[in-house]
Amino acid sequence: MDQQVTEKPYILAIDDEQLNLELLQFILEKNGFVFQGTQDNNSFFELLEQRLPDLILLDIIMPRIEGFELCEKLKSYDQYQDIPVIFLTGKVNVKDKIKGFEVGGVDYVTKPFNEQELIARIQTHVELRKAKNQIEQQAERLRQSNALKDRMFSIIGHDLRSPLSAAKLKMDFIMRGILDPTSADFKSKTVYELLKTMDEALNLLQNLLGWAKAESDQIQVIPENLDLREIVEQTFRLLKLGSEHKKITLRNNIPESTFVYADLNTTKTVLRNLLSNAIKFTPYQGKIQVNFKLEKDRAIVEVQDNGQGIPPEDIPKILNPNEHFSKLGTEKEPGTGLGLVLCQNFVRKNGGTLKIRSTVGAGSTFYFDLPMGKEVSV
Ligand code: ADP
Repeated sequence: MDQQVTEKPYILAIDDEQLNLELLQFILEKNGFVFQGTQDNNSFFELLEQRLPDLILLDIIMPRIEGFELCEKLKSYDQYQDIPVIFLTGKVNVKDKIKGFEVGGVDYVTKPFNEQELIARIQTHVELRKAKNQIEQQAERLRQSNALKDRMFSIIGHDLRSPLSAAKLKMDFIMRGILDPTSADFKSKTVYELLKTMDEALNLLQNLLGWAKAESDQIQVIPENLDLREIVEQTFRLLKLGSEHKKITLRNNIPESTFVYADLNTTKTVLRNLLSNAIKFTPYQGKIQVNFKLEKDRAIVEVQDNGQGIPPEDIPKILNPNEHFSKLGTEKEPGTGLGLVLCQNFVRKNGGTLKIRSTVGAGSTFYFDLPMGKEVSV
């Protein structure tokens, strides 16, 4: 059963006769609507600004501004364009009726009002507008999921295919004796490159799956006490290939027995992405540290590098989920712009926020907050 409490529709009316407004108020409130009325077009626009109505009732013979003109003016504002307008009239001829539809009205109600007719017309247009909004929202969701599907196919088709093809080619060369397994640099060069390519492909595949799950709301976050220092150690081991190759020092500054209350898989994914980025964008012999601070009962985890840094104008692009901003690493390592979008999503799911501090040429710090866990005695 739908548990949602639906808000009462809000109707705004403008009519130069106070008596008409009072009658409208009586009828509409009795029938479950929220009502505001005004005789004056300045206060009409003020009321519009305060709260957008679900429908407007507009008297077409008003002394200061003619009703049709007012409707035209209303429809010229983007934010009011979609609000249905019903004209309140005395007797009108067909020509005037057509004019009313031309300026954006949706219906007429003739005075003196018949309560049932008035309510039926209002309800029809309020419902119609609601249905239109729902269809528009569904269309937007479809557009988004289509874009997601296209993006996934493009990543699978290009970003994932190229490392796999490169690895296959290399193995082919080994099979055919073009690359000699007994040569001095076979392990340090060929095997290293193969491993690195496979690592990249695996990392990308994990991100791709994580991202697709997050986009379709299938991520389950199950918080538990996590030993932060240990998770950072595990991630260092996972990324050893890249850091050792670039002779980058990795330092785990998380104190022993620091526990956060977060979901294991998503926290691991965040740390893996932040640390692999730090390695990717830090040159040879750089330094990467993972720091910990306690701020107002929240754990702040920082991944700090002394790499190339990020220009200020790129920072908003990096965290924009629709942008997929990506640059090559210090050794021309390619990317997809998926990692940080995923990190941001996963940090949020754990109740935190991901932030960036960076200075071009000096390095970047990516940091996020998590709830503290409980001390665990062994
Ligand atoms: P990818 O690494 O696949 O490009 P990310 O979403 O992980 O995707 O990162 C997006 C972009 O943010 C990177 O391409 C890079 O330009 C920038 N970036 C991320 N981390 C760092 C970092 N530690 N130092 C400098 N730039 C970074």
